[in-house]
Amino acid sequence: MEDQREYQLVYTHGRANLKTMIFYQEETNLKKADKIENYYGLYEPISGKKLYEIGIKQARKLGIELKKEEVINIIALPKEYEVITSKEKYRTKSIILATGNQKNKTNIKGLEEREGKGVSYCAVCDGFFYKNKKVAVIGNGNYAIQEAKELISLSKEITILTNGKEKPIVKSFDFNINTKEIVQVVGNQKVEEVIFQDGTSLKVDGIFVAQGVAGGFDLAKKLGILTRKR
Ligand SMILES: Cc1cc2nc3c(=O)[nH]c(=O)nc-3n(C[C@H](O)[C@H](O)[C@H](O)COP(=O)(O)OP(=O)(O)OC[C@H]3O[C@@H](n4cnc5c(N)ncnc54)[C@H](O)[C@@H]3O)c2cc1C
Repeated sequence: MEDQREYQLVYTHGRANLKTMIFYQEETNLKKADKIENYYGLYEPISGKKLYEIGIKQARKLGIELKKEEVINIIALPKEYEVITSKEKYRTKSIILATGNQKNKTNIKGLEEREGKGVSYCAVCDGFFYKNKKVAVIGNGNYAIQEAKELISLSKEITILTNGKEKPIVKSFDFNINTKEIVQVVGNQKVEEVIFQDGTSLKVDGIFVAQGVAGGFDLAKKLGILTRKR
């Protein structure tokens, strides 16, 4: 498997008696694998689901704390990191990002070619460029809400675009929510307008993509880690 190393590292931390915690969600690539046989020690094929369950048991046995919580932000403090999940905040000295390969990219026409020209994947990195401007956040989960919250102190008007998906549960009224399906993003070189399936549109200066769960790429970007083109 491609990313066994991170698991081994986490487990080694546990075995070295370093206080270790794993954040995870039920959705994983491993559980989708019908049969795994290209793994040392597996003389009989095993289902991805079974291997996943064994890994969880192994972690528990090593005294690793497992938290089924979605990580929505990581903040670098002077001497440690703050990990913000959908439930709690935690402080730690080191983090291993092993979030797997999520396919959160959208196929909305006109979006990809405007990356860096109004389309961003990180509110804390690029929010400043949209001071007093109108922005939209594409997504409908905890991560999209977190990104919208990051923009409140900067942007003039924030709209969460669910792109036809369910409306998120939000207590605050600091942003608008639009559930219409998106057809296209248009603008002369940069982002200017989002066109919806029903023919209506929304004028915006910037779009932040925050679909699904924050992946390793999103979290690394927030920490200012140099990332190669994904
Ligand atoms: C259909 C299929 C068949 C496959 N068959 C094989 C095979 O036969 N042999 C083989 O070697 N490989 C196979 N693979 C590939 C293998 O499943 C992956 O390489 C492996 O699962 C990658 O492990 P990972 O830990 O990087 O990611 P994952 O297994 O996806 O684990 C990532 C974990 O991080 C969690 N996570 C992500 N973001 C967050 C967040 N923000 N907050 C909290 N938790 C988060 C996820 O929920 C998940 O629990 C297959 C994959 C698929 C889809």
